[in-house]
Amino acid sequence: MAGDPDAWLSHHIFENRASLVWVSDVDDTLVDTKAMHSKAAEAMAPALNSTLGVSKTQHVLHCFRATFDALLDAHQESHDSEDATDYTALEERVEDCQISIRRRWGATKRFSREVLIWIAGQDCGLALTADQVGSATDAYWAEMTARPQVFADAPELFTLVRENSGLWPLLMTSSDARFHLGLDGQFEYDVARSLAFKEARIAKLNDFGISHGGLFVGDPVDKPDPEYFARLFTHVDSLQRPKSKRLTVFLGDSYRSDIEVPLSLNTQAVGVLVDRGTLKPRVVDDRLIVVNTLSHLSDALKGGRR
Ligand SMILES: [Mg+2]
Repeated sequence: MAGDPDAWLSHHIFENRASLVWVSDVDDTLVDTKAMHSKAAEAMAPALNSTLGVSKTQHVLHCFRATFDALLDAHQESHDSEDATDYTALEERVEDCQISIRRRWGATKRFSREVLIWIAGQDCGLALTADQVGSATDAYWAEMTARPQVFADAPELFTLVRENSGLWPLLMTSSDARFHLGLDGQFEYDVARSLAFKEARIAKLNDFGISHGGLFVGDPVDKPDPEYFARLFTHVDSLQRPKSKRLTVFLGDSYRSDIEVPLSLNTQAVGVLVDRGTLKPRVVDDRLIVVNTLSHLSDALKGGRR
């Protein structure tokens, strides 16, 4: 069975379809965050144009996109080794402006748009103010929230999961890290504000076919911290599922963030890595499969046809 995706999906998904607990990542798994990001970056322009002028704004946004793409490539482990040095330097810069956040919460956030636009400004020789950072990122997130691009294969899977197991999938999603620029280039983190923002953004997905049976946001403890997944497993344990038959399916686009830790914490869990750039599904081992579309899972729930 090891190498046959159909056999893997039939064994883990179809045969257990009534008792599975599904846990899905959101960004770049259910919604095309990368494409949304590109539009949202454009939406920042009016907020910056008024104080920076058109030319400097375009330069800053170019740097912002480059920084974000480098971090996302590393997150999805698609960067090649030649870029590793640049990436490490970038990661250090992202961390260096979160000293008090690290001290207070024990970790930093990689994808805070407030941090990334501020770094982009630095790369263009500009020291953006808290107002510029705040108004630009407000415009960015307003666009991200208003027009989520849900992948076409996601709503069907969610409906089939609900029909087969009686439960909507649980959603595990990172913090949006809505920070505020304070003094000396250091950022401040209001956990309640950041959490409320992400909850509202996820609630909006309901209008686009993505309902959920429980929401786990990484504010303040985020994926892949084992504490984050321990909280999630406590919830899974509370669900009405016979322990002997329980199997939790972790779905995500990042092995490191979404799959590696929960599988190491719990033997009754399998992983589905969603790599939309790959050509066909591939079994890694008995507990992990790579798929290029969520339709493979929908077809498995319908009886293994694809
Ligand atoms: Mg993701």
